Amino acid sequence: MIKMEDNVIEEMYARHFPLISREEQEKIAKKRVTVVGAGALGSWEAYFLKKLGVENIRVIDRDFVDITDLPRTAYEKEDIGKPKVDALKEKLGILGYFEDLNPGTMEILDGSDLVMDGTDNIYTRELINDYCVKNRIPWIYVGILSYYGNIMPIIPRKTACFRCMIPSLPSRPMPTCATEGIMSYIAPFAASLAVALCAKILLDEKIDNKMIFFDLKNMEFNKIEIPKREDCECCAYGNFIFLKKIIKIERDCEGAFIVTPPERMNVNIDEIEIKLKNLGKEYINLKRFIQFMDDDKKIIIFDSGRMVIKGAHSEKEAKNIFVRYMGD
Ligand SMILES: [Zn+2]
Repeated sequence: MIKMEDNVIEEMYARHFPLISREEQEKIAKKRVTVVGAGALGSWEAYFLKKLGVENIRVIDRDFVDITDLPRTAYEKEDIGKPKVDALKEKLGILGYFEDLNPGTMEILDGSDLVMDGTDNIYTRELINDYCVKNRIPWIYVGILSYYGNIMPIIPRKTACFRCMIPSLPSRPMPTCATEGIMSYIAPFAASLAVALCAKILLDEKIDNKMIFFDLKNMEFNKIEIPKREDCECCAYGNFIFLKKIIKIERDCEGAFIVTPPERMNVNIDEIEIKLKNLGKEYINLKRFIQFMDDDKKIIIFDSGRMVIKGAHSEKEAKNIFVRYMGD
């Protein structure tokens, strides 16, 4: 990490100083912020953190830059094909981890002063939440889709936690940017709001226990209070199940991937049928499970949440398909 000379800080952040003090700018510089995910949200979060003056930024992601990423991420044409964390390292000097966040890699978050959500799935958010509540690290939840976004600061012991809002993994496929689409300006807008919240938290300013909603289709903005649940398994009882459990991925003798979620999920097969019908996919609904084709992959989803994927090329691809249908 390059240590900036005093006069450089003075000059570079001149426009900050009517608003925050020189000491506060230095405080921000010294904080360690970890961004989980380097896609649309994560790449812009890292970008705005850097602009804010955070010098110690870690980013975790195990994906490569693709041409379809360009409109909504901080990546450019020359980054195509590179691991996302490598592209960010070149641009911003962040510390990159080419990893998936799972119960076996949580130590990457150790020593963080704050964690930013740059993911696109509920499972990873539950993991971040368990880790952060357990270790009393503030984190910022960010969710985006089509024209909309929600952002909420989660301060262990003070605010509601993510599990207060979503106590278990959803039992039906959630809409994703891949199926519903997303406009290019949504991710940087959400990331900018999240970094503004991050700055307030790093400087110990007062923040609300509120979820911020924005709707850029109708230009509407809202804040609602999210109550802490007194019976929350995570923040009330300290039952950090997601840190113990893991999505299990096995291969059967024919090479199909079998993905088993960390907990049984009562999947509503009929809701998946509606979703597939809307996507124009062919399927066979056998009530306890549904079978369909996703491009060249044959997929079976059981009501327990177990998924069989024939035609996937790697565990990662199988996990991505699982998260696409069963995650957020
Ligand atoms: Zn909670």
